[in-house]
Amino acid sequence: MFNTRIKIKDVLATTPQEGEVTVMGWVRTFRNNQFVALNDGSTNANLQVVLELGKFEDEFLKRITTSASLKVTGIVVASLGKGQAVELKALNVEVLGDSDPEKYPLQPKKHSLEFLREKAHLRFRTNTFGSVFRIRHSLAFAVHQFFNDKGFLYLHTPIITASDAEGAGETFHVSTLSMDKPPRSEDGSINYAEDFFGRATNLTVSGQLEGELGATAFGDIYTFGPTFRAENSNTARHLAEFWMIEPEMAFYDIEDNANLAEEFIKYLIRYVMEKNADDLEFLRTRLLDEEKQKPQAERSELDLLQKLQFVVDNKFERITYTEAIDILLQSSHYKKKKFQYDVSWGIDMQSEHERYLVEKHFKKPVIVTNYPAAIKSFYMRMNDDGKTVAAMDILAPGIGEIVGGSQREERLDKLESRMNEMGIPTEELWWYLDTRRFGTVPHAGFGLGFERMVQFVTGMGNIRDVIAFPRTPKNAEF
Ligand code: ATP
Ligand code: MN
Repeated sequence: MFNTRIKIKDVLATTPQEGEVTVMGWVRTFRNNQFVALNDGSTNANLQVVLELGKFEDEFLKRITTSASLKVTGIVVASLGKGQAVELKALNVEVLGDSDPEKYPLQPKKHSLEFLREKAHLRFRTNTFGSVFRIRHSLAFAVHQFFNDKGFLYLHTPIITASDAEGAGETFHVSTLSMDKPPRSEDGSINYAEDFFGRATNLTVSGQLEGELGATAFGDIYTFGPTFRAENSNTARHLAEFWMIEPEMAFYDIEDNANLAEEFIKYLIRYVMEKNADDLEFLRTRLLDEEKQKPQAERSELDLLQKLQFVVDNKFERITYTEAIDILLQSSHYKKKKFQYDVSWGIDMQSEHERYLVEKHFKKPVIVTNYPAAIKSFYMRMNDDGKTVAAMDILAPGIGEIVGGSQREERLDKLESRMNEMGIPTEELWWYLDTRRFGTVPHAGFGLGFERMVQFVTGMGNIRDVIAFPRTPKNAEF
């Protein structure tokens, strides 16, 4: 048996004791031929391993370099040094894998996030990414905990699909046809009848439509899986491959929907505050350092922990789209012509508008409802005014849109006429429309972008730094 190790996090939580323990991990630093800072990814805190002077050959000590992997057996003793209560007095040290310091790409110093993106295969070995990915893990776990506790069913919706939930392109095609010489129909178009599925297919942009099928049988379901959008937007908030959580609930109206979303977001934040206090503290300090580079006026009033606490403690603001537009039009920002894009009823708010609302005006998350039908998807429920739909977006400080959702149109005639208006083929979505034919019910749901949630909780400015191997335009390394 090889795996006799104790995780460093657990060793650091113990008190000096008799008996040997074994740890395994990677060297962060080695000082004075005596002190190894060993890390195994269970926490950012390194275990100080003390090698008694003269006990080990010089040739052997030379192999203890940054990122070399070690197996150490020793005794947990009280530490005389600062920064840790206990350390490991080494009895036996084995190098499992050498790491040539001339060639190892990361130096034991601070690297920029941009540089680390180029070294994404090794960046997990830094404190920042250690914290981010442990928090990401916690959040994923909390998602399941939250819905499981509420009796929601976890539905696995397909990754390959023939439908485009948004009804608007930007999908990645999935095909086994020859790219050089695809079979063609008489009119010259590609003949997908000869393709693997006998039709054109793509990677899913959302599991919502299938989610609605689940909700109209199980009541409450959620999905949590990867979604793909071939949108060529090179922003700090968009990925081509991202993870989305999509709860869908029968017997919910828009207000029930907003209540659930707010409760869910607060639950996720609380969960991480409780389980990942050390990692949050590390990121809080990291962010404060980063902010010191900025002019005073651009620094945030609250630090990361204060911000999270504030979100948990306060009710999200709830306004209609029409009210949001009024606030923008009344703002001095607008009057001084500081928005790049114009404001008027009917616009699809740009991120500068959303950020003004949450960061400058309300200074907290805002739930905006009842958007103009013309800028929203076909499945959203038409309000009595005949102009707006029961849509709901949640906007978060620093992120912008974090949730998009709606009450769904459950009335078959209204849904069909809306689809016809928007050019969505009703024949292709016959299975979706069947839910409205057979026992239709009021229902609602939303999509939370998982990476945007991780960004919000960790304070990371770029979405590329909260997913292990980001997929963005012109970038699919690793
Ligand atoms: P945006 O306007 O920011 O592009 P959207 O309106 O396209 O968002 P929805 O289609 O409502 O977003 O998707 C639901 C949620 O998925 C969004 O609220 C957001 O959190 C997340 N999301 C959408 N597109 C992306 C993307 N390209 N990368 C990461 N997350 C995304
Ligand atoms: Mn989008």
